[in-house]
Amino acid sequence: MLYLHAHAQSHQWIEAFRSALPEIRIVGPGDDFEPEQIRWVAAWQPESCLFNQFPHLEAVFALGAGVDAFLNRDDLAAEVPLVRLQDAGMARQMFEYIVWAILRFQRDFDRYAQQQVLAQWMEHDAREAEQVRVGILGLGALGQSVAHRLAKMDYDVAGWKRQPVTLEGIEVFSGDQGLEQLLARSDVLVSLLPDTPSTRGVLNAQTLAQLPQGAVVINVARGAQIEDEALLALLDSGHLRGAVLDVFHEEPLPETHAFWHHPRVVVTPHIAAATLIEPAVRQVAANIQRTLQGRPMDGVVDRDRGY
Ligand code: NDP
Repeated sequence: MLYLHAHAQSHQWIEAFRSALPEIRIVGPGDDFEPEQIRWVAAWQPESCLFNQFPHLEAVFALGAGVDAFLNRDDLAAEVPLVRLQDAGMARQMFEYIVWAILRFQRDFDRYAQQQVLAQWMEHDAREAEQVRVGILGLGALGQSVAHRLAKMDYDVAGWKRQPVTLEGIEVFSGDQGLEQLLARSDVLVSLLPDTPSTRGVLNAQTLAQLPQGAVVINVARGAQIEDEALLALLDSGHLRGAVLDVFHEEPLPETHAFWHHPRVVVTPHIAAATLIEPAVRQVAANIQRTLQGRPMDGVVDRDRGY
């Protein structure tokens, strides 16, 4: 039996799970069942004390790519595997969002929007994709896919990850020195890092200042990676040209936050890549089939590492 904890669109999730796993009973809050019968939980934004209601839990499936809400919880025993979504339709949405954000600056749409307010007719020099150096922090399921797609569009792409690897057409940096090198060559900096103790505050006054004059920052990962005051100071001083932010320290972003009205900041409400029901359910169902056949699951999170 699988227990589903999805706040929004619960009905569609239940229907999709029922058709993908007809041999398994799918239940949710309010259904009549014995907690001892639950073998798996699939959840998004799990409330506290959710998991310890089920004494025979075999795995927890996060219905998203980021698992920060599932870590360091008293109700989830260390031996219960935590499994996350890998891409599941999110990489394409991420790519679309990031291309939109890059083009805003590459094609000067930010400047044209300001000019329109002043009824000002003025052209700016065009810049080609190969002249734009994009640096991606985090080259995992999403970062790597986005990097390859941007490289195909002729952007000059590099990335930063913990373990060095060779990726065709993409320069890969790692470690503290690698971060410095990546920052120094990024006209556009994109974060696709998971939220872990070592990524929190990685974009601070010191690191953001290493970006070239006129660089832009796109954060689609987690808000805690950026020190807001440092970003605002570098935008105000003119060192940074702009920021496109989808994620924040506190969500929803408080009404009084300076980001809302800053002329160089674009705010979106954590929508860069939504979980899509069909591919997400297919991935969870495939993992359940694997365990039933005694095979290992894909996407098991290393809970010590945090991603
Ligand atoms: P993955 O776990 O597949 O990839 C994480 C990448 O980050 C890996 O390449 C990893 O390096 C790298 N990394 C982790 N820690 C460090 C570190 N300390 N220094 C350098 N590199 C590091 O994650 P996904 O690509 O699936 O997702 C990334 C994040 O995107 C999610 O955690 C989530 O927070 C966010 N997200 C946001 C969404 C939105 O709508 N805004 C939607 C979906 C996800 P290595 O490969 O060497 O291990």
